[in-house]
Amino acid sequence: MRIDRRLTGRLKKVNPSSTLAITSKAKKLKSEGRDIVNFAAGEPDFDTPDFIKAAAIDAIKSGFTKYTPTTGIPELKQSICEKLKKENGLVYQPNQIVVSCGAKHSIFNAIFTLADSQDEVLIPSPYWVSYPEMVTLAEAKPFFIKTSPENNFKLTVEDLERQISANTKILILNSPANPTGSVYNRKELEAIAKICLAHKIFLISDEIYEKLIYDNIKHISIAGLNKDIYNLTLTVNGLSKAFSMTGWRVGYLAGPPDIVEAISKLQDHTTSCPSSISQKAALAALNAGDEFSENMRREFQKRRDLAIKKLENIKELKFIVPQGAFYIFCDISKTQLDSITFASRLLDEAMVALIPGESFGRDDYIRISFATGIEQIEKGLDRINNWIKNL
Ligand code: PMP
Ligand code: GLU
Repeated sequence: MRIDRRLTGRLKKVNPSSTLAITSKAKKLKSEGRDIVNFAAGEPDFDTPDFIKAAAIDAIKSGFTKYTPTTGIPELKQSICEKLKKENGLVYQPNQIVVSCGAKHSIFNAIFTLADSQDEVLIPSPYWVSYPEMVTLAEAKPFFIKTSPENNFKLTVEDLERQISANTKILILNSPANPTGSVYNRKELEAIAKICLAHKIFLISDEIYEKLIYDNIKHISIAGLNKDIYNLTLTVNGLSKAFSMTGWRVGYLAGPPDIVEAISKLQDHTTSCPSSISQKAALAALNAGDEFSENMRREFQKRRDLAIKKLENIKELKFIVPQGAFYIFCDISKTQLDSITFASRLLDEAMVALIPGESFGRDDYIRISFATGIEQIEKGLDRINNWIKNL
């Protein structure tokens, strides 16, 4: 076999996930005893609550260890419908829900189901690292819409309209956003919804960070604005961030029944159901409500406030105060380093791991995650401050 025919063209165009790669490198160095401060983490550092673990143990002990319906067990889908109604004002029936192996899987399913090869998918930039790669895997075309710090990295209607063509099929929205922490308000979402409706553009609304939101700002689900936008939207969420369950791999999407039915076919022939055990754990989590995520949110707010206070003393870094998620996206252009050089030198010379902005479409930025303890935030930002001064 000729070497260039070993892999598909599809895969050759796709990059590995730098967020996952750097996070596991930081974890490995730490486990080898190196005093690494890990600002790379894309997951809460809290343990999964014991009552959730207990539900999983019960599932194993009672033999709930077989295939379930592809789109998830009925009681979990019912709980998801209740959650979406109560917390997001969204009325979905269980036949409008697909439970998958993480929100990442849900987003991939959505893109793969909606986008054909001629279709263009609009992605506001900076973006979460996996969106463009998923579009490429579906052999559709990612189109970036650059947003600016002056507008808190949020999409303006003018920029959106400029990018729309006859082939535009999907807009991916992420609020609260990774990596910028920006959160769209109702008025901004209404303006975006109006344009999507006028041009019949589908929306994938990634709401995975909805529980991690600060300063009494309220999360708004775009599908709840009106019936027409509801019919064009796939709402994506999951348990990873809200219940610190990243390793359990449970996410879900909700949308129009015909699209959900197609996604169900795709999942039938790819992964089948998500883990039966994780589904029982997810059910326990959703039925318990908000207490765990609210406590975690309060802790994250303290960490964010501390990180911001310390970052204000580092004159070489500029940033927008994040209103949600657990990242601070910092402009490093004053250091005159590109983001990969910045991140790799910082790890080697000051033992702080973070993610280069290049992974999110901005090589003049780096992403700092504050999903780590207060002492680590103090220590890591002091290290960055000293290191930058000596550049
Ligand atoms: N969307 C965004 C913006 C994320 O940062 C993540 C983090 N992993 C995900 C989706 C996927 O989360 P998961 O697959 O763990 O549910
Ligand atoms: N979403 C997280 C991050 O951006 C976790 C890693 C990943 O799934 O990409 O770091």
